[in-house]
Amino acid sequence: MSVKRRIEDLALLGGAPLFSSPKSTSNLLRPDVERYLSYSRLFFEQKQYTNNGPNVKALQQRLADFHQTQYCLVFSSGFWALALAIRYLKLAGRTEIIIPSLTYRRMTDICAWAGLAPRFCEVDPNTLAMTEETVRSCITPQTALILGVHPIVNCAEAQRLQDMAQDYGIPLLFDSVESVYESLPEGRIGGFGRAECFSLHACKLLNGFGGGYLTTNDEILAKTLSAQRGFGFTAIDHIGVPGGLNAKLNEMHAAMALASLDDIEQQVVLNRQRYQCYQQALTAVPGISLLAFDETQRCGYKNIVARMEDIWPLSRAETLRILNAEQVLARAYYDPPLHHKTMHYPHVTANLPQTDRLSQSFVNLPCGQQVSTDDINSIASLMIFLFENSNEINCALQETLL
Ligand SMILES: *Cc1c(COP(=O)(O)O)cnc(C)c1O
Repeated sequence: MSVKRRIEDLALLGGAPLFSSPKSTSNLLRPDVERYLSYSRLFFEQKQYTNNGPNVKALQQRLADFHQTQYCLVFSSGFWALALAIRYLKLAGRTEIIIPSLTYRRMTDICAWAGLAPRFCEVDPNTLAMTEETVRSCITPQTALILGVHPIVNCAEAQRLQDMAQDYGIPLLFDSVESVYESLPEGRIGGFGRAECFSLHACKLLNGFGGGYLTTNDEILAKTLSAQRGFGFTAIDHIGVPGGLNAKLNEMHAAMALASLDDIEQQVVLNRQRYQCYQQALTAVPGISLLAFDETQRCGYKNIVARMEDIWPLSRAETLRILNAEQVLARAYYDPPLHHKTMHYPHVTANLPQTDRLSQSFVNLPCGQQVSTDDINSIASLMIFLFENSNEINCALQETLL
């Protein structure tokens, strides 16, 4: 680890990077390898690699128990869980889906695949979450579905969204990818709306080398999507459900996801330590404030999001360039927001001043299992160094641009 004494020590200005290996915002959990191997041995010995093998069955049961729902279905990705659920739930004859603009980069592609045009809603400036009010103002006679999306720190008001959706008779699906471990006063995440979707990508809380799953209490939805993820088969050589594709999760991925699930409580304890370390360390950095987890609720403490206040003396783009050169792979929070991205398919043009403003001021900081509390303290010291030497750094950066 290299300490910065002069601005020439910054990696962007020719110095050695702070870290020799990248510190990213991906979780990259490595569960106990023996557990992963023992789950793998099970399917290997049974010679059943896919199509509802022993690990897929066990994983679905354990995730349904974990989220306290009747059903859980696993998929090849969160993307396909969302796409199939949207297509199934959308009201026939209508064309629009309500989603926030500050979310997953490929969400509009999923909407397009499912045949719906996104209508983007605003978010609350304090929670960064969509609210009953911001969604209500987007409802039109064309609204086919509401996609409730939880932000990456804390949850959206799922119960109020659910009550409103029910009043309007519009189906509500949740993208709960970033809220696996969370709960709200009204219940555990997993059981709100008609269904909730999650991811098993290596960057998320549960690592299945990739994959996704859906939780629901709706039996017909579960049966239909269970068939559709496997070509639409309902019996041997019989396509009983139209609209099928191949979106199954295989046994090796399920084995990894099971091993990750075995580790989840321990992970959350460590995530909380990292979060508290950031909380402590960033109090010494003027102009950078952490988005706080609501500790009165169950939280996974995975993502670290910080706001750059006006007194922070460098632009966000400059700050990220400097940090990235140090192998601190901090990222802009959902920027550009989705409504500013080029979309080669139907969408509703949006004017979202709040979202535009918010998309300029947040950063995701390194988190997850590869980041230690020492790393966090070094990142905070680096940021203090940037603050204290900002004039000189700004000048030097101007020169490097010339
Ligand atoms: C990662 C992510 C997804 C997609 O999940 P994949 O398993 O990578 O397809 C969907 N929504 C959100 C909010 C995500 O962060």
